[in-house]
Amino acid sequence: MQDKGINSTFKKIIYESSEMVFLADDSYPYSIFYGNESFEEEIGESLKEKTLVGLGLDINAYIFKEELVLTHGKKDFSFKLELPQDSGSNYFLFYQGKEIKTHGLPSRKEAYQFFTSKLDLIAIGKYDHLTYLNSSVLSVLGYETEELLNTNLCPFIHEEDLARIQGIWKSHQKNQEVALCELRFLGKDGNYRHLECSVQFNPETFFVIARDISYRYIQAKNDHKLDSLIDSVPDLTKSGKWKVDLEEQTVFLEPSSNLIIEGLLGNDLAKDTFQSGFLNQLKESVKTLTIEQQEFEGEFWVSESEKVDFSAFFPNKNRSIIWGVIWDNSKSRKIISEFDFLKKAWIECPDAMMIVKPDGQIVLSNKEVNQLFGLEKNSKITHLEDLNVFFEESYDWREWVNFPSGDASISRFSTLLINEKGQQLTLELAASRMEFDNSMFITLSFRNISEKINLEKKVEDSSNFLMNLTDQVPGGLYQMVLNSEGQMNFSFLSKGINAVLGISPQKIHEFNDISTAISKVHPQDLPQVIMSSVASARKMEPWQCQFRVKSGDNNQEYRWVLGAARPQALENGDMVWYGYLTDISKQKEFESKLDEARLAAEKANQIKSDFLSMISHELRTPLNAISGSVYSLFHEDPTDNQKSALNTINFAVENLIIMINDLLDFQKIEAGKLTIEHIPFNLKNTVDQVLKGLSFHAKDSKNKLNLHLSEGLDIAVKGDKTRLSQIMNNLITNALKFTNEGNVDVRIELLGQVRNKVKVYFEVKDSGIGIAPEHQEKIFDDFDQVKPTFSTKYGGTGLGLSITRKLLSLMGGKISLDSQVGKGSKFFFELEFDVEEEKQKIPMKVDNQTPSFNGLHLLMAEDNDVNALVLGKIIKKWGYTYERVHNGQEAVEAARIGKFDCILMDIQMPVMDGFEATIEIKKFSGTPIIALTAAAKLEIMERIDECKFEGFVAKPIDAAELLKRIKEVIKESNYKA
Ligand code: ADP
Repeated sequence: MQDKGINSTFKKIIYESSEMVFLADDSYPYSIFYGNESFEEEIGESLKEKTLVGLGLDINAYIFKEELVLTHGKKDFSFKLELPQDSGSNYFLFYQGKEIKTHGLPSRKEAYQFFTSKLDLIAIGKYDHLTYLNSSVLSVLGYETEELLNTNLCPFIHEEDLARIQGIWKSHQKNQEVALCELRFLGKDGNYRHLECSVQFNPETFFVIARDISYRYIQAKNDHKLDSLIDSVPDLTKSGKWKVDLEEQTVFLEPSSNLIIEGLLGNDLAKDTFQSGFLNQLKESVKTLTIEQQEFEGEFWVSESEKVDFSAFFPNKNRSIIWGVIWDNSKSRKIISEFDFLKKAWIECPDAMMIVKPDGQIVLSNKEVNQLFGLEKNSKITHLEDLNVFFEESYDWREWVNFPSGDASISRFSTLLINEKGQQLTLELAASRMEFDNSMFITLSFRNISEKINLEKKVEDSSNFLMNLTDQVPGGLYQMVLNSEGQMNFSFLSKGINAVLGISPQKIHEFNDISTAISKVHPQDLPQVIMSSVASARKMEPWQCQFRVKSGDNNQEYRWVLGAARPQALENGDMVWYGYLTDISKQKEFESKLDEARLAAEKANQIKSDFLSMISHELRTPLNAISGSVYSLFHEDPTDNQKSALNTINFAVENLIIMINDLLDFQKIEAGKLTIEHIPFNLKNTVDQVLKGLSFHAKDSKNKLNLHLSEGLDIAVKGDKTRLSQIMNNLITNALKFTNEGNVDVRIELLGQVRNKVKVYFEVKDSGIGIAPEHQEKIFDDFDQVKPTFSTKYGGTGLGLSITRKLLSLMGGKISLDSQVGKGSKFFFELEFDVEEEKQKIPMKVDNQTPSFNGLHLLMAEDNDVNALVLGKIIKKWGYTYERVHNGQEAVEAARIGKFDCILMDIQMPVMDGFEATIEIKKFSGTPIIALTAAAKLEIMERIDECKFEGFVAKPIDAAELLKRIKEVIKESNYKA
C-alpha cells in the first residue's frame, strides 16, 4: 500500500469506516489490493478472483462516472468512485459502499440494464420533445441520443401519421392515460421505421416505450406481394410459393409447390435434383438482372418434357434472398389446346352451322354460314330474322326453332335461298335440340344440295333419254343373263322387241324366259342360233346371227331377224349379253334380188366373154386366110406394085391381129384367166425375133431401131416367151409409132446371176414426142391415150400399156417410165428368170443324128377351106407334101392308114374336134401332133397338155414359127424313139 502513496491515517479512517471501501490497481486485471473490513465481510471473502474483472465490472464504462452500482451475490451495492489521477493516485478508489435496498423494485443495475437495453426505445419527454432517451436509438433509428433530445419531434413523424399522433397526445395527455399507437418515424438513413409505442402520460412528463416493428410491415408487404403473384398465374393452373436463400443454398417449397414438383417428377429424390437445379438457374438469372430490377420471371424445365413457370422478387435489399411462385400450366395448356381445337373444328366445319336460342337469337355461327349466305367474312348476324331477306318464305326460321319434339331427335327441312351474291341454292337443313346449363339451344346445320339436285335431275334426264333411245331405235334391245346355275333369262327387253318378235305389249312381261324365245326360232335355223350362242359364251366373243322367227303368236309365217350381242362376265360369275334384234326381212328380200341380179350379170359377162372369144376366132380365121395368102403370093414372084400392095395388106392385117389379141388378152386378164408359162426359151433369140419382126415397121416409120444386148444373154431361161415378146412388141411399136425420123434403142442387160436365177434389165428408149408428166401415170390405165384424138392420128386401142403393166406384174416385174415432152420416152423394167439346166443342150449332142427335114409328109386336119388352102400353100413352099382331112374323125382314120412325119391338127372342127382326135391317134401312133388354134392359147393350154400334143401354134399362123415347131417336134420324137 506504501507504494501506492496511501498513508496510515487514511488507512485507519478507511478501515474503521462502516461503509465499504476498496482499492484496485489501475492496470489490468485491476487487482483489488485492499478492502476494509465491511467490504471483506460483504464481498471480498466470497470473491473467487479479487479483481475488478472478477467483480464483473467493465471499468471503461465508468470512466466518466462518479458512482456505480455493483451486484454481487444477488445483492446490489452502490459505491462512489475515484479514478486514478495523473498527478496523484494510481489506483481506483471505491468508497461509501453500501447495500441498496430496493424492496422488490429492480435493482439499480437492473434498472440501468433496462434503460440501456437495445430492444426498445425508452424515452421520457415533455410536451413535444424528449428529455431522456436510451441508447437503443442508435441501433433502431441511427441517431445519437443527443440528436433527438430537446428538439421538436413533429418533423420526424410521417406526415400521414402526424395528425393522428397529435390527436392522441392531446386527448391522452389531459386524462393522463396510457396511449397505444403506431407511427412512422424518420430514421437517420432517411427511411421511416414503423414504431409501436406505448405512452404513459403524467402531469408534466410522458414516458414512452417504443419498439421498431418495421420488419412486420416488410413481412406483410412481401407476403402480400407473394399472394398477388399467386393471383396473377393463369387460370386453371396449379401454383405454389417458394423462398430461396442463395447464400445459404436453401430452397423452401410450400406444400402446394411441393405437390406440383411431386406431381411432375413423382418422388423426393427428384425433388432434390430440382432444388439444386432451380437454385443454379436462379443464380444465373440474378446475374443477368440490373440492380434496379426487383422482379423477374422465367421457366424451369424439371425434366425433358415437363416445365414449370416461375415469377420471383427480392423481398429485401439483400439480393441473395428470393421469393416467388411456381406454376404448372400443362393441364391448362392441354385444356386450352383442346378448346382451341374444338373451336377451330367448329369454325372450319365444311357445313354451315349455327347454335341459336329458341327465340331465334344466334349464339354461335361458323365461317361457312357467311360463305353460304354470301356475307362478308367479318360481318356478324345476330338473329335468324336477319336471314329473312334470303329466303322465299321469310319466316321459315320459326319452323326450324319450333319444330315439334317428336321421336326423331333431328328434324330436317329444305328451303330455297337466294344469297347475297344472287345465287339460287337449295338448302337442306337439319335441326336438333340441345340442353346446356339449364338452357335450351338449337343446333342448325345447312347444306347446299343444289348440285345434288342438279345431278339427280341430270341422271333422271339421261335415264329418260336412254329409255327413249331404247324405245325409239329400230329393232329391240335386250339384256340377257346366264347365271351360275345355268338359267338364262332376259333381264331387260325394250319395247321394240314387240315389233321384232310379234309379241303383244301385254305379253312382253311374260317373255323373260329364254325358252319362249327359242320356241319362236325357225327349226332350220335353231342349230345355228344355239351353236353360235355357245361359241360366243365360250370364247367371250361378240355374237351375231341371222335367223327366222315366227312373226306372231298364232301366225305360222316367219320373218328374218338379225341378232347381235356382246357378252360380258360379271364379278358374281354371271354372264350378261347386251344385244339387239332387228327385222331384216326387207334386207333379205333385197339381198335375194341382188343375188339374182348378180347371177344375171355374171351370165351376161359370160356371154360377152364368149362372144368376144367367138368373134375374135371368127375374125382370125379370115385374117389367117388373108395373111396366108399374102405370104404365098410373096413367094410367087410378085411385081413391085403387087409387092407394095401386099405389104400394105400385111401391115393392116398385122394391126388388126394385134388389136384383136389385145382385146382378148384384156378380157382374159379381167376374168383372171391369164396364166404365165414357165417354158424354156432363149432370151437373145426371142429379142432378136421381136426386133426382126419390127424392122419393117421401123423402116416404114423412118426410125432407126437399134438393139443393145449385153454379154451372157444367149441363155435358155424359163418363162413365157410369148408374153415377153408381146411386151417388147408393145413398147417398141409405141416407140416407133410416136417417133418420127428418130431413134428407138432397145437395151437388154444381164444385171446379175445368183445360182440358177438371172436378173435382166429391159429398156425401150425413143427420141419421140415424149409424154407430159400429168399423163405419165394415166397412160397405164385401161383404154387410156394421151388425147382421144391421138387414136385417130396414131391408131391404137389404149390397151397396150395397160396390158403390158398387168402382164409384167404377173411375171414379177414393174414397168417404169422416164419421159420429157419433145425429147423422148424411156420405158424400162427388170425381170428375174430361172436359168434352164444344161440338159437343154443335150439334144444338140445328137445333132449328128438330126433327122433329115427334106421331103416331109404331113397330115393337115382343117375344116376351113380357106385356112387349108393357105396352109397348103405354105407347106408346099417348104417343099413338103401333105394330106388334108376335114375333121377329127377323118384324121384318126388317115393316121391309122397313112404314115406321116407330123400331124397339124386344128382344134375346132366338126364331127370330132382336135382334142378327141389326138387322144384317139395317141392310142395307136407316136406321130407328133401340133395343135393349131385361133382360140387364145392359154384357155386351151390345159387341154392340150392333157391330150399330149407335142406342140402348139397359134393362128393366124406364122409360117416360120410353124416350120420351126414342126422340126422341133420331129427331132424330139426321134430322140425319144
Ligand atoms: P395405144 O394402143 O393407143 O398405143 P397404149 O396403151 O399402148 O395404147 O398407149 C397409151 C398412150 O400412151 C398412147 O396413146 C400414147 O399417147 C402414149 N404413149 C405410149 N407410148 C408412148 C411413147 N413411146 N411415146 C409417146 N407416147 C406414148
